[in-house]
Amino acid sequence: MTELRAVGLDVGGSSMRAAESGDAAAAIRAPVSAATTLAEFIEAAGGLLAAVDPGGAATVAVALPTFVKPDGTLLDCPSIPALTGVRLAALMATELGRSEPLLVPDLAAAVVGESRHGVGLGVDSFLCVALGTGANAAATRGGRVVDTAFGCLGDAGHVLVEPDGPRCSCGGRGCLEAVASGWALAREARVIGLRTGEDLTVAAEQGREDAAAILDRAGVALGRAVASWSALLWPEVVAVAGGVSAAGERLLTPARRELARVGVPYIAERVTIVPATLGETATLVGALCLAEDAARAT
Ligand SMILES: [Zn+2]
Repeated sequence: MTELRAVGLDVGGSSMRAAESGDAAAAIRAPVSAATTLAEFIEAAGGLLAAVDPGGAATVAVALPTFVKPDGTLLDCPSIPALTGVRLAALMATELGRSEPLLVPDLAAAVVGESRHGVGLGVDSFLCVALGTGANAAATRGGRVVDTAFGCLGDAGHVLVEPDGPRCSCGGRGCLEAVASGWALAREARVIGLRTGEDLTVAAEQGREDAAAILDRAGVALGRAVASWSALLWPEVVAVAGGVSAAGERLLTPARRELARVGVPYIAERVTIVPATLGETATLVGALCLAEDAARAT
């Protein structure tokens, strides 16, 4: 029997999940953390792969919470620091006795998942914005990742949205991430006496105007970022994913309003901003798609 053997491995901040092609719902997982050593990571990844693909012949795509440099080493990986600077594909091949896996940034996998199985299905030019702890965006054309740097759109979450805005984690100022990411909203929440960024939505629903204003500002920032990306990429649909997107219309309505206000009219008018639909499974689904693509290409 000949069959396409493809496996996806999604490495997150608190766990990694593996599944075989066509069976993302049956994913198995292992815990990881900032304290995980490189040896522990390799052992855990090897255990998951051995369980999902006992023969060891499947093509594997690994979605990572960092970028892969052209020389194959991983950039800074704050959620699992032991991975920083590691040539992971070669190491996994050596240690696990398998072919080198395909390594992709997690958002590149997520945008493929959403474009082929989520809200981007059937959309030729698609952009996915992730507002999680940080902020980033990735795009597909015809279901394929648009790769301008590091296997995606580089550090697209650091587009300028407020020229004199807050200092950003990247060292710049006024980036989307500095205004609309999870850590930025947590910072603003504390200023008005709330504990977490998630508390902003609850407080806004209860009538707190200061909380609503913070979410509105984040939405405006998102709209400005979409305006800038749209001038370059001409997306038809922009999906918003990540924990911050739970704010829903309190984020998306001001984003659409700002896009219409500042965007290039003939480009902005064809852009639709919507919530992403696959949630946290988008990354694993996309990793499986990329593994299948790689398996077909061999
Ligand atoms: Zn920045």
